[in-house]
Amino acid sequence: MNFVSTRGGVAPTPFDAALVAGLAPDGGLYVPESIPRVDLEIPRATLAATAEAVLAPYLAGSQLRTHLAALCREAFAFDAPLRPMRGAGDHVLELFHGPTAAFKDYAARFLAAALGALRAPGTPDTTIVVATSGDTGAAVAAAFHRRPGFRVAILYPDGKVSPRQSHGLECWGDNVQAYRIAGSFDDCQRLAKQALADTALRAERPLGSANSISLGRLLPQAAYYAHAAAHHHGAHGRPLHVIVPTGNLGNACAALLAQRMGAPIGSLHLACNANDTLPRFIAGAAYAAQTTRATLANAMDVGAPSNIERLRHWFADDDALRAALRATPVDDATIRDTIAAAPAQHGIVACPHTATALHVLETLRAAGDTRDWAVVATAHPAKFDTIVEPLIGRTVDVPDALADCLARPASAITLATDFETWRQALRAG
Ligand SMILES: *Cc1c(COP(=O)(O)O)cnc(C)c1O
Repeated sequence: MNFVSTRGGVAPTPFDAALVAGLAPDGGLYVPESIPRVDLEIPRATLAATAEAVLAPYLAGSQLRTHLAALCREAFAFDAPLRPMRGAGDHVLELFHGPTAAFKDYAARFLAAALGALRAPGTPDTTIVVATSGDTGAAVAAAFHRRPGFRVAILYPDGKVSPRQSHGLECWGDNVQAYRIAGSFDDCQRLAKQALADTALRAERPLGSANSISLGRLLPQAAYYAHAAAHHHGAHGRPLHVIVPTGNLGNACAALLAQRMGAPIGSLHLACNANDTLPRFIAGAAYAAQTTRATLANAMDVGAPSNIERLRHWFADDDALRAALRATPVDDATIRDTIAAAPAQHGIVACPHTATALHVLETLRAAGDTRDWAVVATAHPAKFDTIVEPLIGRTVDVPDALADCLARPASAITLATDFETWRQALRAG
């Protein structure tokens, strides 16, 4: 299949080229030329098998097509269970069973495996540059750790991520280097972009990116929605309605993709934190990016969601988009109350991101909605122990993979926000 740009300025591009490029040359985001229909009502035995069915049409003609089953087995090696919660029709889709306990593990692992398979033998190492405000850096580091032909350089804002999140960025060693930047996430992003735009630097030290606009991050995420909905539909004969905590809209676009491809998914409701760019737009305002605000759900602190371009591309016009999607902003006080009440009310412990979606579910139920809903749990609560534990009054058990990571020593290089210092560090690294 070929891919085009959301800005319309690029000739149809095959999957492999679009995957390696990341961003389209006209500054837009790659989207498939058309969204294929696949028989996704059939519940498949494993998540990896569903992922293969979802991804196969996109990889038609790709050098990776013959590796697809193996790539999916590698990326989707851990389950994404859909569990019933306490209330009738209430479910939680747990996407936190990977090595860094957040949903980004699935797609980061797919991207790493795919780029690894596309790499020509004997070429110099590529350094994957990631600016991260939370979970992306850890997922990318874990996915590329000790992978031949790749290094990872992670930039993150000093003091702006949870202690366990920062440990998750700094615990890898080998081919992974964490850079703690004395600035904001925006500084980190600027440094990453400047490096990727520096042709002299890239000639010396090949660079790549793995951010959420990459097709290799977007498409695989449709798999867990399709898998959960097929099994739910198979068991109950009803569609699964989904509430997605969202920031950059990557995971939300993947849910929409799964729905359009034919998965038995009903409504999509997006839950935001206080960064309410999307809810305002869906409520009828003209689209206007905002300055990012820091919240308890820090991985969703995005004032200018890049995937909005994809979302708008997939609807005839903004009114069609507004008719198809709901979006609700949830403030920090409500996130706190929701986390505190969740164990007794729903029988789960929620991370701050998951809590935004849980709150949306509560408002739907209060309004008399009786449909089958899945709240998407995007991270394990143990990653946010300093927020969650005081609210629920007890400790949260740490999943094994996260415990392994926390047991390893952490190291990072602290840098100022100027480009030259970072450029020298990259050249030396
Ligand atoms: C990245 C992240 C989100 C937001 O996902 P997007 O695809 O950027 O919308 C939500 N929750 C957690 C835990 C995350 O790490």
